[in-house]
Amino acid sequence: MQVNTMCVIGAGTMGTGIAQVAAQAGIHVHLLDTSEEAVSRSQGQLEDSLHTGIERGKITAEEAEDIRRLITWGMSYASLAEADWVIEAVFEDLQVKQEVLSQVAAHVGQRIPVASNTSSLLIRDLAEFFGRPEYFIGMHFSNPAPAMKLVEVVPGEKTLPTVTEAAVALCERMGKIPIIAPDIPGFVLNRLFGALVAAALEIWARGVEPEVIDSTIELGLGHKMGPLRTADLVGLDVMIALLRSLYEQTGHTRFEVPTEFVKLVENGKLGRKSGEGFYKYAE
Ligand code: NAD
Repeated sequence: MQVNTMCVIGAGTMGTGIAQVAAQAGIHVHLLDTSEEAVSRSQGQLEDSLHTGIERGKITAEEAEDIRRLITWGMSYASLAEADWVIEAVFEDLQVKQEVLSQVAAHVGQRIPVASNTSSLLIRDLAEFFGRPEYFIGMHFSNPAPAMKLVEVVPGEKTLPTVTEAAVALCERMGKIPIIAPDIPGFVLNRLFGALVAAALEIWARGVEPEVIDSTIELGLGHKMGPLRTADLVGLDVMIALLRSLYEQTGHTRFEVPTEFVKLVENGKLGRKSGEGFYKYAE
């Protein structure tokens, strides 16, 4: 399956990052969103990311120019007619995804693979909304997409093997390392990350300092960043939503959220983005 033109639906944090990595691989990308505001935010995010890439020596100014040339933005599903690969990266909301996927099914070619970047919904459920489950697959990028190597490739129960193979090849072409993950709540990454953070929260709720918990994992297991520092980076509102979703979907008490953590989030301590979470951050 030759991919020359990709349509990414949802020009937010992830959609914009995915568009950048696809364009870096020479793919034309059309980013689709619902508002002018979202489009201009996305353009700003891309510019920031390209500047950082140049500053860090990851890309040259010429490569940045090529990436800009390959990405376009729009608000019409009509552009899906030209796509030979689609990635959905809209809000993590079942109803929103359902609406978007039925629109995609109406506008995209019958044999065009459609991937979802969902973090917590099951691929087999989303595949039913799309209506052609053989051509539907999960491609779960990590944030920030331009920097993180992993993509969890998640075939649903009816996904064609050729579509899975094509998703793996596409990830490799974009310089990523694909790992085939099972279609279970949280796939592999968030299932493991959720369990680690939940265990850290349980120890923290007993009065142990975040620094002690993080340093123990960093020094003892060689993790670059302990679970509470990572949770602060991800955002504690996002973290609590992930844990609640894992708990609801699996019923495993290991994902239960301690009330002390609920209070922290309710007090507006959302991690780095709010200036304070488990740690305090300078402006
Ligand atoms: P975001 O809020 O930054 O972006 C979502 C975008 O979708 C917004 O720009 C919004 O305007 C757009 N959108 C909403 N409804 C739409 C519609 N009907 N049609 C077109 N566009 C629409 O969210 P995000 O963090 O980029 O997350 C997107 C997806 O990626 C979610 O499924 C999320 O679970 C997943 N994900 C997020 C992360 C992360 O760390 N942020 C990591 C991996 C996967």
